[in-house]
Amino acid sequence: MTVGIIGHYKCSEHDMGDHHPENGKRLSAISDQLIRSGLDYVVRQFDSKPIDKKLLSLAHTTEYIDFVLNNAPKEGDDKFVVGPDSVMNEKSLTSILYSAGAAVDAVDLVMDNTLTSAFCTTRPPGHHAEHDKGMGFCFFNNVAIAAAYAKQQYGLKRVAIVDFDVHHGNGTEDIIRNHFKATPEDDKGYLFCSSYEYPLFPFEVTESDIPPIINTPLPATTKGEQFREKLTAHWLPALHKFKPELILISAGFDAHIEDEMSQVSLTEADFRWITDEVKKIATEYSQGRIISVLEGGYAPSALGRSVVAHINGLIGN
Ligand SMILES: [Zn+2]
Repeated sequence: MTVGIIGHYKCSEHDMGDHHPENGKRLSAISDQLIRSGLDYVVRQFDSKPIDKKLLSLAHTTEYIDFVLNNAPKEGDDKFVVGPDSVMNEKSLTSILYSAGAAVDAVDLVMDNTLTSAFCTTRPPGHHAEHDKGMGFCFFNNVAIAAAYAKQQYGLKRVAIVDFDVHHGNGTEDIIRNHFKATPEDDKGYLFCSSYEYPLFPFEVTESDIPPIINTPLPATTKGEQFREKLTAHWLPALHKFKPELILISAGFDAHIEDEMSQVSLTEADFRWITDEVKKIATEYSQGRIISVLEGGYAPSALGRSVVAHINGLIGN
């Protein structure tokens, strides 16, 4: 069991303005807690590379990719608004390319058996980025690109994405439906499970228990017990039926009780629980292969502690 952490200091440099919750201090908080926990000696650490821009088209339209790449601010330029709550400064494009690159590098490291599982400690996040637009702090959908890359490069037939960020992974659902063209009749080898507080951004979500989309809304009053009950009832049967060859996690930790981005009240123990459950599925069907990609989590201390719990789950400590 070899677990790796993949990231790059350039992911810290993207900046959406003073006091914006999605900032580079999030990665420092994770790094601090990894050192404090001693995990930095246990896991293998890798610097990511910027993504080959051609791979962006695995999940996005050429028009949208060109829109982002051609308008990215250069030194001294004003900020550029890509979409609602997704703003680029002169450093953003580099962070964006390293963030997506980490997810692709993780696929290579896991598929060539260098690692059993990997955590990408990167930003900006990606799960709100749709096939033709960015929004909600996201530009390109790191996890969807990685899922498509795993199928294209390694011939995998079935890839599952599970998303426990407190916001719905609307971008990932959109890409699976509208870019991968998956339907209930032909899932195209994808399964997407998303739990999220509802109502909450991005609001327009339909509950679903029909693959390839399992949408599991959580009321604002949700605590760990209800979270575990809902995911046990809705996610686990779908994952067992799907038998994934690789599991990707959109790992958002903004459902933590200390995180003011939501009302849902989870703790580190709940993130450990869902990690353990995903790992059991991965052990049964996918040779233990899990690639986890950071999404939200905006209370720095809670974020760092939750990531430690998550990585301990991946390791099996
Ligand atoms: Zn979120």
